Amino acid sequence: MRGDSFPEAPSSGADLLDRQRRAFLRDGAPDLRARKANLRRLRTAVLAHHAEIGEAVSADFSHRSRHETEIMELVAVIQAIDYLSRNLRRFMKPERRHVGIHYQSGRAYVALQPKGVIGVMAPWNYPVSLTLVPLATALAAGNRALLKPSELTPRTSAVLKRLLEDAFTPEEVAVVLGGPEVGAAFSALPFDHLLFTGSTPVGRRVMAAASENLVPVTLELGGKSPAVIARGHVNARTLGSLVFGKLANAGQTCVAPDYALVHEDDLETFVGGYDAAVARAYPEGPTGADYTSIVNERHFERLKGLLGDARTKGARVIEVGVHPETAETRSRTLAPALVIGAGDDAGLMQEEIFGPILPVRTYRTIDEVIAHVSDRPRPLALYYFGDEDAGCARMLGSTTSGNVGINNTLMHVAQEDLPFGGVGASGMGAYHGIEGFRALSHAKGVFVQGRWNLTGLTRAPFGTSAARVLNVVLRR
Ligand code: NAD
Repeated sequence: MRGDSFPEAPSSGADLLDRQRRAFLRDGAPDLRARKANLRRLRTAVLAHHAEIGEAVSADFSHRSRHETEIMELVAVIQAIDYLSRNLRRFMKPERRHVGIHYQSGRAYVALQPKGVIGVMAPWNYPVSLTLVPLATALAAGNRALLKPSELTPRTSAVLKRLLEDAFTPEEVAVVLGGPEVGAAFSALPFDHLLFTGSTPVGRRVMAAASENLVPVTLELGGKSPAVIARGHVNARTLGSLVFGKLANAGQTCVAPDYALVHEDDLETFVGGYDAAVARAYPEGPTGADYTSIVNERHFERLKGLLGDARTKGARVIEVGVHPETAETRSRTLAPALVIGAGDDAGLMQEEIFGPILPVRTYRTIDEVIAHVSDRPRPLALYYFGDEDAGCARMLGSTTSGNVGINNTLMHVAQEDLPFGGVGASGMGAYHGIEGFRALSHAKGVFVQGRWNLTGLTRAPFGTSAARVLNVVLRR
C-alpha cells in the first residue's frame, strides 16, 4: 500500500487519506446504485443547508446576494449532480473495443474504474460549487474524496465541513481546513488524483508537489480571458452579456471576460452603452443588494492599485453605472469601471483582474486580434460577439483557449455536457461532461483471450507455421 508515512503532511489530512484508502481497498468499486445514492445524499445535504450556505458566503464576502449564490453556486451543484445521476449508467458501461484480425475470437473492452481517493483543492471565489462539483464528479466515478476548501471564505468552508460530515462518513468524504501551509502539505499527499482549482502560480507549486508521488493532476487555473466584439456588434445584447459576465460576483470569476477588444469605430458607442447596461443591471448602484463586495482588503487594495497604476500611465478610467444617490459606502465595494487606453505596461493588462474593472482595447482587423490573443498565454475562455461568419471561424480556428463562448459570457460553464478546463497557463485537463468522469476514473483496457487465434502459431519453437503467419501479418 502506498503512503505509509507523510512527514510533511498535517496529520489530519494524512490520516484521513489513509483511512479512505483502506476503506476503498476493502470495499472496492461501488456499483451504480451506491453511486447514485451518494449523489442523492449530497443533493439532499446541499438543499437542506442552502440558507446557511447563502448567509455564510455573504458574510465571507462582506456582501453577496442570496440570489447570486443560488444561481451561480447551488444551481451549478444541483445541475451537475442531476446530470451525473442521469448519465451514470452510460458512463459506467464498459466500452467494447476493436480486436485485431489476428486476435479474433478474443474480446477487448475498456472498463472505467474508480481511481481511489481524490484530493480536491478549491479557491474562494465560488467556494461552494468549486468544492462540490469536483466532489460530485469524484463520487459519480466511484471514488472517495478529501477536500481542502479556501481559508479566505472560512464561514463557508466551516458550513461545507459540517454539511459533509453529516452526510458522509470520514472514510467516504472528509474536509481538511487551513491556509497555504496546509494547502502545501495537502498537495504533497499521495492521492490517486488531485483536482486543483486556483491561481496559476499556486497551481505550478501544487503540480510540483504532486509530481513527487506521481499523482496525476487536473489544474483548473485562471488568466486573462478576452472578449472580442466584431465590428458593428456593440448592441444591447452584447453589452448585457458582457455586464453579466464581468459583474457577476463583482468580476471575481475565473471565466469572467477580463478585457474587451472593440473595433476602433465602435469605441464611443461601447463606452456609452456599457454605462447604460450597468445601470440597467444594477439600478441601485454598487451598494445595492445585487452587487457583490470584494472578498478581502488585500484584493480590494490590489484592484484600487491597478486603477491608480492605469491612471498614472495615461489611461482613461470611467466609473460606470454609478448614481450620485448611491454614495453610501459598504465595506470593500468597488464600483464597476471601464479603462480606456491601458497599454501593455499597465498592471491591468498583465495580471488577471478578478474584479469589476473592464479595460477596453481597440483593433482594426480580426487578424490583429488573433495576433494579440496568440501572443499571450492561452486563456481559460475566449468570448466572441458577432455573426458566425468567416471572421468568427478564423478566430476559433487560429486561437487556442480552454473554452469559447459565442454571443454570451460564462454560459459554457453551465453546459453540463461540455468539458470545462483550461489549456497551457490556464490549466490542464478538464471536468464536467464525460471528460470529468473519465479524468477521475482509470481506463483499464482488458483483453480476453478467445479459444484460438493466430498468435498461438507464432510461439517458439518457430517453424513453418510461424513463417506462414508472419507472411500474412506483414503482407509480404
Ligand atoms: P489560490 O491559488 O490562492 O488558492 C487555491 C487553493 O490553494 C486554496 O485552497 C488555498 O488555500 C491553496 N493554497 C494557497 N497557497 C498554496 C500553496 N502555496 N500551496 C498549496 N496550496 C495553496 O487561488 P484563489 O485566490 O483562492 O482563487 C483565485 C484564482 O483561482 C484565480 O486565478 C482564478 O482564475 C482561479 N480560478 C480558476 C477556476 C477554474 O475553474 N479554472 C475557477 C475559480 C478560480
